[in-house]
Amino acid sequence: MIGRFKYDGEIFNGVASDGRVIVDRGLYSDTFMLSELELLPPTQPSKIVCVGLNYIDHARELSMPIPKNPLLFLKPPSAVTVHLGNIVYPGKTRQVEYEAELAVIIGKRCKNIRAADAGSVIMGYTCFNDVTARDLQKKDTQWTRAKSFDTFAPVGPYIADAGLDVGDLLIKTRVNGKLRQESSTSNLIFDVPDLIEFISGIMTLECGDIIATGTPPGVGELFVGDEVEIEIENIGILKNFVVRED
Ligand code: MG
Repeated sequence: MIGRFKYDGEIFNGVASDGRVIVDRGLYSDTFMLSELELLPPTQPSKIVCVGLNYIDHARELSMPIPKNPLLFLKPPSAVTVHLGNIVYPGKTRQVEYEAELAVIIGKRCKNIRAADAGSVIMGYTCFNDVTARDLQKKDTQWTRAKSFDTFAPVGPYIADAGLDVGDLLIKTRVNGKLRQESSTSNLIFDVPDLIEFISGIMTLECGDIIATGTPPGVGELFVGDEVEIEIENIGILKNFVVRED
């Protein structure tokens, strides 16, 4: 699991396991205790490309037709939030909701990648919460306002490497410990290689960019004081706290 960390003013990537972090310095490596480092979001994306309505069970839940092409929208990088960070409930909305999503982290600059070659541009996978102001999403014909508030893109905690098979992983949301979403990535309508072909056929993807692959059934509301966890099997648990805007 690869993480991004800060210690004594320095920011670096390291491999986290068993409470320790190993940092490759080239000719040697440093080992830190995880507890002495500040955890940062695992990537600093130039953009976050999100996919709407990409779980077959979610499309059925909403009685929506299965999309013929991935439905894309963007979230700004300014929305990124770290594991254990706060989701700030904006005063401009009355309905904030969680969406558990598998995130793909792009490993190198690329354009026009075929699905068969998608593995060569993936750095790895992590958990993502596509936090949404649902009332504003329903009011607007496109979703920028609803999806783009600061802190509406929790991501992490770590990146599982690209060798992980993400074809059938359990994906869950818990709010205050209660299970709210539970599905499998096997229910994705467009899988990761298909999405990389489709998206890279439109825009250049940069190293560190995030593709958020869509959410399963069971989306619902968050309230100030809630603790929300997105868990993906073999990847990790992303936990955040909902707080009132100052
Ligand atoms: Mg979503």
